[in-house]
Amino acid sequence: MKELTIISGKGGTGKTSLTASFAALAKNKIMVDADVDAADMDLILTPTIRHEEEFKGGHYAVINQDLCTECGECRERCQFDAISEDYVVDKIDCEGCGVCVYFCPADAIEFPQRTCGKWYISDTRHGTMVHAKLGIAEENSGLLVTLLRQKAKKMAEDEKLEKIIVDGPPGIGCPVIASMANSNGVLIVTEPTLSGTHDMERVHQLAEFLNVPSMLCVNKYDLNPGMAEKMQHYAETHNIVFAGTIPYDRDMTKAMVEQKTLVEYSDGKAAQAVKAIWEKVNHTVFQ
Ligand code: SF4
Ligand code: SF4
Repeated sequence: MKELTIISGKGGTGKTSLTASFAALAKNKIMVDADVDAADMDLILTPTIRHEEEFKGGHYAVINQDLCTECGECRERCQFDAISEDYVVDKIDCEGCGVCVYFCPADAIEFPQRTCGKWYISDTRHGTMVHAKLGIAEENSGLLVTLLRQKAKKMAEDEKLEKIIVDGPPGIGCPVIASMANSNGVLIVTEPTLSGTHDMERVHQLAEFLNVPSMLCVNKYDLNPGMAEKMQHYAETHNIVFAGTIPYDRDMTKAMVEQKTLVEYSDGKAAQAVKAIWEKVNHTVFQ
């Protein structure tokens, strides 16, 4: 069993459209939507939930007003100013360090686990998908991404599936590291702009640091062919497999509006390019 993670460095590069098309093209696979802060693959794959569970992250403090003697010890100790003058903990500001719980002389502070969101196993017309919804202002998305990958791996083992395809989160922070660490390959999706170049270099450096082989594809390459060529050159001189380019094609947006993958919606120039990229990625990572 092997795993591919698709990343972009920032949102809006067409990463999710491409990943959803891979879902339609790949056989024997399980999909993971690891973009847990803005999960939108379900808009295209329209999943039917088969199993759901709460995702528990860290803890938070709750003061029991009946036991509190208002001694002030907790407010003095809290480094995050999470406790008000009338001894109520702000759940959002509380970092769950547990210091107040430890020092409260009246044992007045409870320390329950935080429910940060939910994760799901769903059926889609292109097979099983593991995905999640993180609560508003909740953190721990790196932890949630790791959990999704673990669940997908277990399911792939149980169902003897050969491929795990992960739609990674944007950026280069903790969630994206969690989505690509120990993966068999990352596909970086970028656009031919200066910021796209910058993002591509940053995520590639991260992949190199994590020892994960990189591939690159340039979406909407024809909006700036010169820049796209420079990106290809960067790939060829930095040990990145160049997976191909996708031309600008309004079918990409139209497919999304109709809740279809691009390759289901159209056989136009972008769909053809996506199929060619999948062939190359499939061959590079999974064979
Ligand atoms: S340390 Fe405990 S008893 Fe003292 S103010 Fe805080 S909650 Fe109340
Ligand atoms: S758990 Fe830590 S952050 Fe939360 S209120 Fe207590 S001392 Fe402050």
